[in-house]
Amino acid sequence: MNFASRLDNVETSAIRELFKLLGKPGIISFAGGFPDAAMFDVEGIRESVNKALQQEAGGALQYGATEGYEPLREQLSAFMASKGVAVAADGLIVTTGSQQALDLIGKTMISPGDKVIVEGPTFLATIQCFRLYGADIISAPIDENGVKVDVLEQLIVEHKPKFVYLIPTFGNPSGRMLSLERRKRVLELAVNHETLIVEDDPYGDLYFGEPPPPSILSLCAQQPGAREWVAHCGSLSKVLSPGLRVGWMVAPPELLAKATMCKQFSDAHTSTFAQATAAQYLKSGRMPATLAKVRKTYAERAAAMGAALKRELGDAIEFTQPQGGLFFWARLTGANGRISDANEFAKKAIEEKVAFVPGAPFFATNPDLSTLRLSFATADVAKIEEGVGRLGKAMG
Ligand code: PMP
Repeated sequence: MNFASRLDNVETSAIRELFKLLGKPGIISFAGGFPDAAMFDVEGIRESVNKALQQEAGGALQYGATEGYEPLREQLSAFMASKGVAVAADGLIVTTGSQQALDLIGKTMISPGDKVIVEGPTFLATIQCFRLYGADIISAPIDENGVKVDVLEQLIVEHKPKFVYLIPTFGNPSGRMLSLERRKRVLELAVNHETLIVEDDPYGDLYFGEPPPPSILSLCAQQPGAREWVAHCGSLSKVLSPGLRVGWMVAPPELLAKATMCKQFSDAHTSTFAQATAAQYLKSGRMPATLAKVRKTYAERAAAMGAALKRELGDAIEFTQPQGGLFFWARLTGANGRISDANEFAKKAIEEKVAFVPGAPFFATNPDLSTLRLSFATADVAKIEEGVGRLGKAMG
């Protein structure tokens, strides 16, 4: 078949191949990016579905506005306000997961050959999505405090990108948290260089101790003119349910209007049934308890994984203990002649019935072959201990 040339630079993700192995019996998987299904507040969602059907069946089952179901936009506006961001209901649109918000940003902003700056490493699906629109992707390096802003500034000056895509809070895959000082610098760069910053924030609510610094979007309140340079993507996927496919985008009005137009041509609107359910859930007041539960569970698992990695792999591995999110991002040191290639290590690990994802595919350019991503979300503490023990054996 003679497919469109836009597909020439995009492949099915390398990670998908690995996922095929995960169905094997007895495998402990640290590979996925899923939240734990045991965390889903099934009872609360059931109540919300019932209420949506009792109170608003017409709206919940009918076609709806592309911008989103009004009661949900209002609830999301209140949810953002609880996190210190003033966004009116009509200052956001509801999207089919935050993945669609990213796609709409790609669709509205990228012409073939346009430059886009992302973190190295970053979310794989975003790399693929922006490539589909023909972006020339440039990676900005990170350290333990997130993207290195000095380098970012040089790259912005040199490449004049259409936008910069960042996951400032507990990034996928990096798990890193961009420091407050750097968030402020990023906003200064946005204003000074008139560059759009796309802040992807599906993990910001999953903190283990102190809350993270305010989102880049909320810092706009302190920086005149900044709001017109920030698009922010939110999601209920990691805190409530990814199957609902409810995400949202806050952006300058012009971008929001173009994104709405493009959304209209693809899925018309996000499922009104899912939106009405989400609206009822947010209205029910159950979210704070749900958040407290997921934070506590993931915090225990992250602590267990960090301790087990140190114990079982010692100086063969380096990592920063994540303060939230779902992931450890680690580097194999090769100390004392041990394995330093994450692909080789992944194969040995599968033989020991434990899986993780090698880090190379998360780099848009210059992959670091010694890196890997381990998710602590879906295995309980006992499984984490067992699985990391198997990693120790695989390392030898
Ligand atoms: N951004 C990042 C950084 C993610 O890790 C994910 C999900 N893995 C998404 C966006 C998309 O999430 P959703 O579409 O379910 O909101």
